[in-house]
Amino acid sequence: MSRPTVTFLGGVREIGGNKVLVEDGPDRILFDFGPSFSPRMEQYYVDFLKPRTASPVQDLLEFDLLPRVEGLYSREALTDSDLRYRAPEVHGLFVSHAHADHAGYLKLVDPEIPVHVGEGTRRMLAAIEASSPSMKYGDHDWRVFTDRSPVRVGRLEVVPYPVDHSIPFAYGFLVRTSEGTVVYTGDFRQHGPRAADTHAFLAAAAKEAPAALITEGTRAGPDSRRDLSEEGVRRGVDRILESSGSLALACTYPRDVDRLRTLYDAAQAAEREMVVSARTAHLLAEVAPLFPSGAVPVVGRTPGLSVYARKKRRVASWEGPYLEAALGAETLRTRGERYLLALDFFHFPELIDLRPPRGSPFIHSMSEPFSEDDVDDQVLHNWLDHFGLSFHQMHASGHASGPELLEIVRHMAATRVYPIHTEHPEAFESAGPRVTSPELGRAYPIGGGA
Ligand SMILES: [Zn+2]
Repeated sequence: MSRPTVTFLGGVREIGGNKVLVEDGPDRILFDFGPSFSPRMEQYYVDFLKPRTASPVQDLLEFDLLPRVEGLYSREALTDSDLRYRAPEVHGLFVSHAHADHAGYLKLVDPEIPVHVGEGTRRMLAAIEASSPSMKYGDHDWRVFTDRSPVRVGRLEVVPYPVDHSIPFAYGFLVRTSEGTVVYTGDFRQHGPRAADTHAFLAAAAKEAPAALITEGTRAGPDSRRDLSEEGVRRGVDRILESSGSLALACTYPRDVDRLRTLYDAAQAAEREMVVSARTAHLLAEVAPLFPSGAVPVVGRTPGLSVYARKKRRVASWEGPYLEAALGAETLRTRGERYLLALDFFHFPELIDLRPPRGSPFIHSMSEPFSEDDVDDQVLHNWLDHFGLSFHQMHASGHASGPELLEIVRHMAATRVYPIHTEHPEAFESAGPRVTSPELGRAYPIGGGA
């Protein structure tokens, strides 16, 4: 009988875009299904140049930005495609977490294929869908798994372990095949509030003496970007707020609940009110019930947290309740020293109304750009220069550092190691001869000591 295999249909020499297919006899399961960030996607699609919604799969297949797999895509997604529709031949899709590069192509997947997620991921995806007209994940046969409880798909057994990442409810997986265990890390770090979860996952994984380790490698190789712990971010923000007597602005990822909590705590300590977008308020309200009581601030329930009323022509129905007691630009302009406003990059035109005094702090609580010619980064600095805001970089990465990754790989001693979600798989080679830089679309046998 043929041995089980693992095939990398995305995430090869790129950050994001993970699509890991594990096959054992007739049983086939997929881990994650999202677009890559850069650079492959941006060779063809950028800004408003996007795949056509009428033929999404075909427009991505053209440039090998999606795998040519039958029995995976929905009939609708295959409209006008030369890949024909077939009833599902993939028997389950496991989503490690709710970031776009892991879940963003769910809408293309056949609704008959069971999609396995954590409860938190399910809620986050629903909240994002409800509050962003452009984000759709599609209808699916959702199966919510329980932490550390095995899920059986044919002869395969998948055990989801929570890990620490820059979004809550992120998972790594142990995949038990007929020839040994495959470990898939998803995205992870061990310097955030849930570091203990990552340690427990890695310990459980090592115990299985895995046949294969599929590890993320975002920060492997050259990485000059500064990184702090979550506590380090808190100390930095405290210092900035202490020394400022005007409106403080911060920019972070709306799904980074830990960071929103850190900013909220720092605002509380500085006797400032934290002000967020209606969308962020909605996401926080949706996920809060899954945390211990009071751990996640919720507008209307937690003191010192308000919604910012952006200038808008139309208000969506979900937004209405959040905007009732929202604060407008006028309030923040005249009493700026009382507020910390978390603003999205896309909301920068609000600065035209807010007009913070020159020298007001702008806390960039996001990843530094990957490349020096990053367009968004240039635009961001143009805005800050125009308004004379002072820039502060304060971020804790969602990913383990290069040296940490090598240490984990050495310690795990898996028979084979496949680095994905990295532009520098070769950086893992010093971890030993067991490391293979995978090729896109090639099936690698599992087990047998090879
Ligand atoms: Zn990722």
